[in-house]
Amino acid sequence: MRTARFIAEGRLHIGTVHESCLVDEAGRCYPFEAVTWLPPVEPRKIIGVVLNYAEHAQELGMEVPTAPVLFFKPTTALIGHRAPIVYPTGVQSLHYEVELAVVIGKRCRKVARERAFEVVRGYTVANDVTARDFITNYFRPPVKAKGFDTFCPLGPWLVDAGDIDPDNVTLRAYVNGELRQEGHTSRLIYKVADLIAYISEFMTLEPDDVIMTGTPEGISFVKLGDVVRVEVEGIGGLENQIVAE
Ligand code: MG
Repeated sequence: MRTARFIAEGRLHIGTVHESCLVDEAGRCYPFEAVTWLPPVEPRKIIGVVLNYAEHAQELGMEVPTAPVLFFKPTTALIGHRAPIVYPTGVQSLHYEVELAVVIGKRCRKVARERAFEVVRGYTVANDVTARDFITNYFRPPVKAKGFDTFCPLGPWLVDAGDIDPDNVTLRAYVNGELRQEGHTSRLIYKVADLIAYISEFMTLEPDDVIMTGTPEGISFVKLGDVVRVEVEGIGGLENQIVAE
C-alpha cells in the first residue's frame, strides 16, 4: 500500500494512492493535479549517511569510511513532491542526491541487525539537496551544506515495508528529463539493516523518523529553473523545481 499526506480543498488529508488519484479517509477521490503534496511522514529526526556507496566516495576522491558517518538534516528542510527547492543566494554549487529513505515504525533501541526490518514502517524517496560549497571536509558534519530550508524533498508517498526489497532497487535522478544519476542499493556499503543496528545502538529511533541511506555515484549541479526528479524503483518519483530565493 502507498500512503500520502496532502492538502485538498483547504484541509490536510492522509490517503491512499491509487492509479491516478488520492483517496482520503472518507473515501473521496482527488486527482493528483488537484492536491498540494506534503512529505508522507512528519519525522522528529532525519538522519543522513555520507559516502555510503563506494563508487560515490571514489568520484569525490574519498576513502570509504570504516563505520557509517552520520549527520542530521533539520526537519525544517522538509518539503513535499512538487514544492520548490530554494536556491540560496551566493551558493555556487547546488547538488541533488537521490536516496532511498527508510521510515521507522516503532520506538526502538539496540535493534539486532537480524531483526532490523521489524522496526521499519516503510520506504520513500529523498533528495539530499546539498550546497557543495560548504563541504570542505567530508568528516566534518555538513550541517550548513545540507541544512537549508527546502533541502529535504521527501515523497511523494510512503510504500509499506513489505512491498519492496530495499537491498535490491534501482535509484535514478533526472534533471529536466535527462538521466544524470543511476545506482542500485545492492551497492550500499552499509545496508538498511546495518544502519538501523548501528544507529539504534546509541540512539532511540521513534515512529516516523527517517534514515536517508546515501547517494550513489553521478552527482552533479543544478541551476535555477531546473526540474529535478529523483526516483526509486518500486516506490515512485519525487519532482521539485529549483527557484530563486
Ligand atoms: Mg546524501
